[in-house]
Amino acid sequence: MSEAWTLEKTLSPHAMDRPKTLFIGGEWVAPIRPDTIPAVDPANGQEIARFSRGGAQDVDRAVRAARLALEAGSWPKMSGQARAKLLWTLADRLEAHRDEFALLETLDVGKPIGMSMAVDVGGAVEKLRYSAGWATKIFGKTFSPTLPGEYHAFTAREPVGVCGLIVAWNFPLGMAVAKMADALAAGCTVVLKPAEQSSLTTLRLGELIEEIGFPAGVVNIVTGYGPEVGQALADHPDVDKISFTGSTATGKRLVAACAGNLKRLTVELGGKSPAVVFADSDFEVAVQGVFRNIFYNTGQICAAGSRAFVQRTIYDKMVAALAEKAQALRVGPGVEPSSELGPLISDKQLERVTGYVESGLEAGAKLVTGGARLGSQGYFMEPTILADTDRTMRVRQEEIFGPVLCIMPFDDDDLDQLARSANDTDYGLNAFIYTRDLSKAHRLARKIKAGVVRVNGAGIDPTVPFGGYKQSGWGREQGEEGVLGFTELKSVVMAL
Ligand code: NDP
Repeated sequence: MSEAWTLEKTLSPHAMDRPKTLFIGGEWVAPIRPDTIPAVDPANGQEIARFSRGGAQDVDRAVRAARLALEAGSWPKMSGQARAKLLWTLADRLEAHRDEFALLETLDVGKPIGMSMAVDVGGAVEKLRYSAGWATKIFGKTFSPTLPGEYHAFTAREPVGVCGLIVAWNFPLGMAVAKMADALAAGCTVVLKPAEQSSLTTLRLGELIEEIGFPAGVVNIVTGYGPEVGQALADHPDVDKISFTGSTATGKRLVAACAGNLKRLTVELGGKSPAVVFADSDFEVAVQGVFRNIFYNTGQICAAGSRAFVQRTIYDKMVAALAEKAQALRVGPGVEPSSELGPLISDKQLERVTGYVESGLEAGAKLVTGGARLGSQGYFMEPTILADTDRTMRVRQEEIFGPVLCIMPFDDDDLDQLARSANDTDYGLNAFIYTRDLSKAHRLARKIKAGVVRVNGAGIDPTVPFGGYKQSGWGREQGEEGVLGFTELKSVVMAL
């Protein structure tokens, strides 16, 4: 790929032009209140499409369609095998449209096209196939009651019901598919609410779902703003579960909203994940890992390793290597195949991230590299490294959600002290350890309060549960736990 990708070359004819309405009950319908939201290319600030601004009444329509599909028609009678087949078909169809979806994601969110292809679309395809496997493997257990007499006792897993799926803007297709695939594998019906900054691939996914012939109402898509559509879903008395990915602040709001009918609630929230690099690590592996874990997706990743603790004997060498790599990183529009780092999602996010850097510098941090906006068009920012931060600074405690790394030295292998430093935020999403001493890695992993501990550059995988300790969330997605999170457990005890 040597030239920039363009809409004309890649996109299916209707992907951008068709008015983006709401997908409710198997049909594309206009919102009750005729209003739209612009989709903006963060690489240049230009509007690329418009889609519907749904509201509470539209959510109500979608919930009713999802309830009907859950309780009547072909879906509740469908075997796990048939549900698996639908998910596989969707995976195949998505794969066949890989270029188009990747370009749409890149234009809407800014990420480099190669990443959109491999991670966003490729990952969504694999996730659909993985979850399809679970549709035929959701079982209960049998028990031997201790009461006198003869009994047959067993548990059954049933779909939790109508699910509201609310996602953030950093991996729009991947997150929508991750939640939807597990929910459908479990036999639920869903109302999807993509983020207002990144709704296009979810809407296009709805078109594939329509073409494939999913039963009407099994998947509904209502676009719009969080306080309107998202809140209405969380408040709705006929929604059984909310699965949310987003900020901790919104997650807390949802806890309150879901109390109304005691909805089940899974929340995947923010993070301030630590990376601990020991002197005995493979230096190249550690440099690559620390670098990728903070600058990947322009730092807009919940699992970003935004606090690096590096053993003092290799600290200067590590800072110099990271700075050199940061300065060499090619920042540019995602459609340019040479770009390695895209823009931030919006002007608001750019302002937020540069504001954090300023606050750190004012508080006494030292700028190793970066720190500023790049150019005047689009929302680009230099990859940034801050040294000499301390634990009281906002840059050390709060999630920045941008390409900003705080780096700190430590002296000896006092694992208790290291764990205290690593655990010293309100979050507990991921942690990264680099060492050749696996015994040390195991011992530190035990002490760290994080939902996922990644050693020597390991990635995230659909087979492995993902979620947070502390204020990084409730519940787990991915793996068996992700699918079972969309079920209720029923016990049946029969006196024989
Ligand atoms: P927000 O919490 O602002 O938004 C996330 C989603 O919630 C969006 O769809 C948003 O709608 C919606 N929303 C906003 N307000 C409400 C409300 N009152 N009720 C219901 N829904 C609402 O997060 P950001 O968009 O800022 O996303 C970034 C955050 O997501 C970061 O903190 C990041 O850590 C977290 N995240 C966590 C992940 C994880 O797995 N733990 C993965 C990825 C991101 P809209 O935007 O349309 O207004």
